[in-house]
Amino acid sequence: MIIQSKLPDVGTTIFTVMSALAAEHKAVNLGQGFPDFPMDQELARLVNEAVNQHHNQYAPMPGWMPLREAIAEKAGFLYQATLNPDTEITITPGGTYAIYSALTTILQPGDEVIVFEPAYDSYIPNIEINGAKAVTIGLVFPDYHIDWQAVRNAITPKTKAIILNSPHNPTGAVLKEEDIRELRAVVKDTNIFIISDEVYEHLIFDGLPHLSMLRYPDLLQRSFVCFSVGKTYNCTGWKLGYCIAPAALTKEFRKVHQFNCFSCYTPSQVALANYLHNREAYLSLAPAMQEKRDYFKQLMQSTRFTLQESYGSYFICGTYERISDEPARELAIRLTKEAGVATIPVSAFYHDGKDDRVLRFCFAKKKETLEAAVEKLAKV
Ligand code: PMP
Ligand code: GLN
Repeated sequence: MIIQSKLPDVGTTIFTVMSALAAEHKAVNLGQGFPDFPMDQELARLVNEAVNQHHNQYAPMPGWMPLREAIAEKAGFLYQATLNPDTEITITPGGTYAIYSALTTILQPGDEVIVFEPAYDSYIPNIEINGAKAVTIGLVFPDYHIDWQAVRNAITPKTKAIILNSPHNPTGAVLKEEDIRELRAVVKDTNIFIISDEVYEHLIFDGLPHLSMLRYPDLLQRSFVCFSVGKTYNCTGWKLGYCIAPAALTKEFRKVHQFNCFSCYTPSQVALANYLHNREAYLSLAPAMQEKRDYFKQLMQSTRFTLQESYGSYFICGTYERISDEPARELAIRLTKEAGVATIPVSAFYHDGKDDRVLRFCFAKKKETLEAAVEKLAKV
């Protein structure tokens, strides 16, 4: 049988490649972004309780209502957003699915979507599978800020959406008020949608505020704002997330969603609905992760890598001019095999493999894991 590939230029995602290589070589895995410490035992207890209380049948298609109500309450508390849980919040199997569904909801063949690179690796395939085109704009190295003049130059009558991601994977950059002002000016009087990937909303450091699209009613009216419970609550294997969008947008989003997964795993929705009322549980996430970032930065001083700044996410990037001038992908593979530490080459987040010789390290790990990794990296 011959299949005409819908994604002829796509291989296996770098996260799978590096995690498999790490397992094969028994390397410490600072590559794929997942915590190696346990999730909060209270949330684990609540999900067990939900199973035992027989919450094991289909949840409603848009999601368990008490969970949507709890999300609306949280969005009001954190971002002063007034959300209707019935018409504006949809529970999804993860953040990636929410982004894919939002793109599928709005895109027609030939549309253009502005994507900032380095970009999380699902965005461009998600656009292309819908017959649309990604228009890439490089974030400005080395602090990875957005060049808004480049955005203005890239807009055409075919521009259907802009994808934002703050805090940013892989760089840890975050949006500033000035970016919001520029964004507002760029989209004003257009029909451009915003897909805002906010899966790291709670992992933002140094007291910086998370500038969610939920804060700005004028921007929210054109936005699909995507979140991930897995990233937030250290249970990436849950694959639970949600999409917040105005009622008219949500109505179309649900047409796509209902014939894809229909509804998500019920026990975790019931558990999270109860857990979200504990504000401390999400307010304590940033300081705990910042401590890991700081510890990792301090440990890495014993190596010849030069770390960049990270203001959020699970990640920090680093250059290696004092070690080698190999392409990042080659070095990442060699470090996994020879030094016993897996990382992610940032070149994998560029459609053309642009290589600034940067590696991404995941610091969402136990202290012992970070120590073991850095002990090995110090010998490189
Ligand atoms: N966007 C970014 C930038 C991410 O790093 C992740 C983490 N995988 C996701 C979306 C999706 O998260 P999920 O695992 O909930 O699909
Ligand atoms: N978001 C994770 C990362 O950037 C990986 C998710 C995945 O493996 N698809 O590492």
